[in-house]
Amino acid sequence: MMDSPSVAFDRSIMHRYDRAGPRYTSYPSALQFRPGLDAGAYAEAVEASPGALDAAPLSMYVHLPFCFSPCFYCGCNKVVTRHLNRVDSYVRHLLQEVSYRGAYFNRNRVVQQLHFGGGTPTFLPKKLLVELMQRIDRHFQLTDSETRDYSIEIDPRGADRGVLQLLAALGFNRISLGVQDFDDDVQRAINRVQPIETVAKVYDAARAIGFSSINFDLIYGLPNQTPATFAATLDRVIDMRPDRLAVYGYAHMPGRFKAQRMIRETDLPDPETRLTLLQATIDKLCAAGYVYIGLDHFALSTDSLVRALDDGGLHRNFQGYTTHANRDLVNLGMSAIGQVGSLYMQNHRSLNDYEKAIALGELPSARGAWMSRDDFIRGDVIQGIMCRGAVDMTEIEDRYQIDFSRYFSKELLRLRLLSADGLVVLSAGHIKLTPVGRLLMRNVAMSFDAYLGGEARSAQMSRAI
Ligand code: SF4
Repeated sequence: MMDSPSVAFDRSIMHRYDRAGPRYTSYPSALQFRPGLDAGAYAEAVEASPGALDAAPLSMYVHLPFCFSPCFYCGCNKVVTRHLNRVDSYVRHLLQEVSYRGAYFNRNRVVQQLHFGGGTPTFLPKKLLVELMQRIDRHFQLTDSETRDYSIEIDPRGADRGVLQLLAALGFNRISLGVQDFDDDVQRAINRVQPIETVAKVYDAARAIGFSSINFDLIYGLPNQTPATFAATLDRVIDMRPDRLAVYGYAHMPGRFKAQRMIRETDLPDPETRLTLLQATIDKLCAAGYVYIGLDHFALSTDSLVRALDDGGLHRNFQGYTTHANRDLVNLGMSAIGQVGSLYMQNHRSLNDYEKAIALGELPSARGAWMSRDDFIRGDVIQGIMCRGAVDMTEIEDRYQIDFSRYFSKELLRLRLLSADGLVVLSAGHIKLTPVGRLLMRNVAMSFDAYLGGEARSAQMSRAI
C-alpha cells in the first residue's frame, strides 16, 4: 500500500489554468449525447455488456427532483413546488420506469451501489419512499451486504430523526448533507437559511443511528463569503468530523441557471479571493487530517475512498469518486444518466416529457451516445489521471494494442507544456501528476479530450477553480 499522494498550491499556476472544462464523471461528457437512441439500442447494449455475461453487480441512480424552495446558487435539475400531488404523480411514473427498466436486467445482478439524488429526495413522503424501495427490490436485487454503498442526499431543513431511521431501515448506509456555509449573511444571500443547530441535530442523529459514512457538501465562492467567514465554517465542520467532504467552487452561470440571477455579482468574491478561499480550504482540511482525494473531494484516512486512492482502486463515474469499478449504471427518473456496456443514455430533462414517455409505455430516454474504441482508450487514460494521478503507458498499450507515443503524439506535445509548468512529470512509459498538478487534474485530463475546442461548449462547463 502506498502513502496518499500529496498536493501543493501554486497561486500563479492556479490562476493561469483557471479555465472551464468537464468534470469527467464520464468520457465523453454528457455534452456529446445526441437524440435518436431507442429501446432497441438499450436492449442491445445490456445484452452485449460484459457485466451481463458474468452477472456483475449493478450501480443505480434515482433522481428525485422536488424541492420546497430554490437555493439561488443551484444548478441541479429540480422542480420547486409545495404541491404533493405533483410528487405523487411523478413517483407513480417512476415506479413504472422501475418495472420497464427491470425487464432488461437479469435479477441475479445485485445492486451494489445505489444513490438517491435530487432535488431533495427526502421531500418524498415516507410512504412513497417505502413504495419506491419495494418496487426497486421487486425488479432488481437489493442487498444488505456490508460492502453495499447505498447513499442519499439530505437537506437538513427537512429531515428529522424519524426520516433518518426510516432510511436506515430501507438499507441506506451513507448520507450526504447539503451544508454549503454556516454564515448567516451567506445563507440569506443564497436563500438557504439553516442554522448550524439544524445541521448538528441531523448529524448527531445520523451518527447515533449508525450510518457508516456521512458526507458534507460545502461551497466556496458564494456571495458575501470572506476568507474569515469561510474559515469559521470550516472550523465548525472539522469539529463535527464528517467522513467525507465535497467542497465545490460556486460556478456563476446565470445565463444557464435562472435562480442564479437572484445573486448580485457584486456580492461574489473576486478571483483573488476565490483562490484564497480554495487555498485556505485545502490547507485547513489537510492539517485537520483529511486526505485530498481529487477535484473537490476530501476524506478521513479511515474512509474507503482513501484506501482505494492508496491501493489504486479509486474510480470515477456519474456518482463521483467511488470504489466500484466499471459497473453498469441503471438510471431512473427525469434527467438521470445511465451507462450499460458501451452505451450512455439520459432520460428526458423535463417533467412533462418524462411522464409523457412513461405514459406511452416507453423508456423515457432522450439522448445518449455509443462509445467508440477511441472513447474507451481516452476514457481509460483520463481515469488514470483523475483517480490515480498517473498513467502507465505500457499498460494502455497492452490493453488496446496501440503504440502510445504514436497514438497520442499531439497530446504528448501538449503535455510537454504542462510539464514545463510543473504539472506533470513525463518519464519513460509514465505520466505522473505532481503535487501542483493534482489540483489541476482536469486541465491535465483535458489534454486527452478529443471533443474540446468550442467556446459554446466551454460556456456550459464549470471553471477549474
Ligand atoms: S441546492 Fe438542493 S435543495 Fe437547494 S434548490 Fe438545489 S436541489 Fe433543491
